[in-house]
Amino acid sequence: MADPIQSDPHGFKRRGVLFVLSSPSGAGKSTIARKLLAADSGLAMSVSATTRPMRPGEKDGVDYHFVDVAKFKDMVANHEFLEWAHVFGHRYGTPHAPVEEMLANGRDVLFDIDWQGAQQLHQIAGGDVVRVFIFPPSLQELERRLRGRATDSEEVIEARMSRAAAEIAHWDGYDYVLVNDDAESCFQSVKTILQAERLKRSRQTGLIGFVRSLTR
Ligand code: 5GP
Repeated sequence: MADPIQSDPHGFKRRGVLFVLSSPSGAGKSTIARKLLAADSGLAMSVSATTRPMRPGEKDGVDYHFVDVAKFKDMVANHEFLEWAHVFGHRYGTPHAPVEEMLANGRDVLFDIDWQGAQQLHQIAGGDVVRVFIFPPSLQELERRLRGRATDSEEVIEARMSRAAAEIAHWDGYDYVLVNDDAESCFQSVKTILQAERLKRSRQTGLIGFVRSLTR
């Protein structure tokens, strides 16, 4: 992957942040992602490709690029994915080119991907990746939220509940962990993590000249 270098208002450069949000489905991650994108024009969303069927209300190219298995396999063969994985019996992958483009345009990139994707991305991009895991307050609350969504069949809800435990089991592969018992405060914490990560000294690539200009 090309080096993600972003510009700072002070004129020095920093490495772009690849910001990963993972959680069991229903823990409120998409709401937080939406709020984060609305609040921060320096952040852009990576839209994944998936072979799972479209849910009511979803839009192709916005929520996902909905593709069939043959097309997905072609994309894998053509090395179009930064990472991809099987999740809930379907394939999900992060297209490479748009991520490069967003970074080249000076944006940090937000990924809503599972633990397998977080792991693969970290292997590729190391310290440029920040991995945040969001816990639901309890399994009971998770089930209540999944049922409240009412877009999935009983069978799918049960499968998602059993997957939740597997997803939670990988919490130790993350840099930050939060409990989403209140959407607003969880969002504020995630926003703070992103801001702090942007300021990390290790991301600032042009600091020496700036510091010299202050100490001359
Ligand atoms: P859903 O079908 O509910 O939209 O997503 C199911 C799971 O797939 C979520 O945990 C989501 O984070 C994960 N996911 C979505 N896109 C990707 C992707 O491109 N790569 C990986 N590894 N996981 C993804």
